[in-house]
Amino acid sequence: MKKYNVIDVLSNEGKELELIGWVDSRRDHGKLVFIDLRDRTGIVQIVFGPEILEAKNLRLEYLIKLNGLVKKRPANLVNPKIKTGELEIEAKNLEIISKSHELPIPLDTSGYEINEEIRMKYRYLDLRRSRMTQNVLIRSKIIKFIRDFMHSRDFVEVETPILSKSTPEGARDYLVPSRIFPGNFYALPQSPQQYKQLLMVAGIEKYFQIAKCFRDEDTRGDRQPEFTQLDIEMSFVSEDDVLNLIEELYIELVKTFYPHKKIQKIPFPRLNYHDVMEKYNSDKPDLREDKNNPDELAFAFIVNFPMFEWKETEKRWDAVHHPFTKPQVRDVQDFWNQFNSDPSKMLAHQYDLVLNGYEVGGGSIRTTDPELLEAIFKAMGNDPKEIKVKFNQILEAFRYGVPPHGGIASGLDRVLAILQNEPNIREVIVFPKTGEGYDPLMDSPSEVSEEQLKELHIKVDKKDK
Ligand code: ASP
Repeated sequence: MKKYNVIDVLSNEGKELELIGWVDSRRDHGKLVFIDLRDRTGIVQIVFGPEILEAKNLRLEYLIKLNGLVKKRPANLVNPKIKTGELEIEAKNLEIISKSHELPIPLDTSGYEINEEIRMKYRYLDLRRSRMTQNVLIRSKIIKFIRDFMHSRDFVEVETPILSKSTPEGARDYLVPSRIFPGNFYALPQSPQQYKQLLMVAGIEKYFQIAKCFRDEDTRGDRQPEFTQLDIEMSFVSEDDVLNLIEELYIELVKTFYPHKKIQKIPFPRLNYHDVMEKYNSDKPDLREDKNNPDELAFAFIVNFPMFEWKETEKRWDAVHHPFTKPQVRDVQDFWNQFNSDPSKMLAHQYDLVLNGYEVGGGSIRTTDPELLEAIFKAMGNDPKEIKVKFNQILEAFRYGVPPHGGIASGLDRVLAILQNEPNIREVIVFPKTGEGYDPLMDSPSEVSEEQLKELHIKVDKKDK
C-alpha cells in the first residue's frame, strides 16, 4: 500500500519519502529533468539530477515511483498556484511502474473545450484532470456529510430494491425481462416512493437513502437516465417538519464545504405556487439578486402546488407530483366535490425546493386513508382492475395501522453541479451517459446474443435505421 500521498510532503520537509504518482507535466532542462508528480491529493515538483538516467525517458501520464528528499524551493521559484508550491522533491531514484501511450485527450486543461463523447469514452483519463478529481472527492465527502447528518437526526438508512415494479413518477420505466416468468418484467424504480412509504407502515419512522433512480425520458436538457437522490420519508410529521430538516441540512452543508458562498435568505423563503407562477411564470424561479455571481445561492420552497394537471396526450387528469400526495381536502366526499367542480383548482400538500432556477427537491405529505387514495387513483383514470394490479400492495398495507407520513427527495447530482459551479450534472457524475442515454465508455446499450434473448423469451423486432 502507498504510505505517502503527494499532499503529505507538506508536513515532511527535510525527510525522504517514497512517492507514487503520474507524470502530470515534464520539463527537460538538459542536466536536470523536472516533472510534476500527481496523485489524487495534488501535485508536487520532482527534480531529477543527471545521475538518474531513466528520467530522460519519462513521458506524460507514466506511473512512477521514487524516493526523494522534501526540500524548500528557492524563494524565486515558489509556485503559488499549487499547495506544495514552496517545496520540491530531490529524487534519489526512479522506477517506472507503468508506461502510458500518448493521450487521446489533454488532461492539463479544464476539459470543457473537448468533445464530450470523447471525454466519456476515456472517462478513466478524464477523471484524472484535477477539476474532475475534485468533483469526485467532494462528492464523496458530501455524501458522507449527508449520511452523518441524517444519522445524527436519528434516521435509518435502508436500501430498497432495484428490481422492482413500476412506480408512477411521470416518466417511462426501464424494464428488465424475467427469465423465470416469461413475458413478465421488473421495472427499475423511478424512485423508491412506494418502498419508503411501506417502510413507514413497517414502523421505521425515519428513513433515508442515497438512492439511484431510473427514468427513461426522452432527451430533454440536462438529464440522465439514472441519477442519485437523497430520499427521505418520515412518520408523524407536518409539512414544516420536512422542510425544516432539508433546510438545516443544506445550510450546514454549505457552511461546511462552501463557506465562501452566500445563501441569499435564511430561512429559505416559502412561496406559494400560484404567486410564483404569476410573478415569474415558472415553478422554479431563479431568485438570485445578482445572477452573475456564482457564489450566490438562492434557495426557496415552493408550496401549495395543485394536485392535478390535465394530460392532453392521455386525455386524463394526472397527479402533478405523484398520486401518493395528499390533496388539501377534508375527506373523500370533499375530494369528489372539489374534483367534480374543477380538478385544476384542488391544491396538494406538495412542495419543491428550488435553487438558482433549478428544482433540487420535491416531496409531499402522503394520503394514508386508503379510501381517499383509491379515489385519487380513480380520478386519474385508473379503472378498479388497474388499481388492483398496480397499487393493491399499498392500499392493503394502509389497512394495517398506517402512520401519517411525508417526505422529500433531493437530486444530489444537480445540487452538486450548482455548488461546484459546473454547467451540467454530467460533470459531477463519474460515468455519465450522453443525451441519448448512450454510454461511450462501455458501448452500452448493446446487442445481446440470440441465446440470451431466447432465455428471456424475447424476439426483437429490429427496424433498420
Ligand atoms: N419520490 C418523489 C420524487 O422522486 C419524492 C417524494 O415525493 O418524496 O420526486
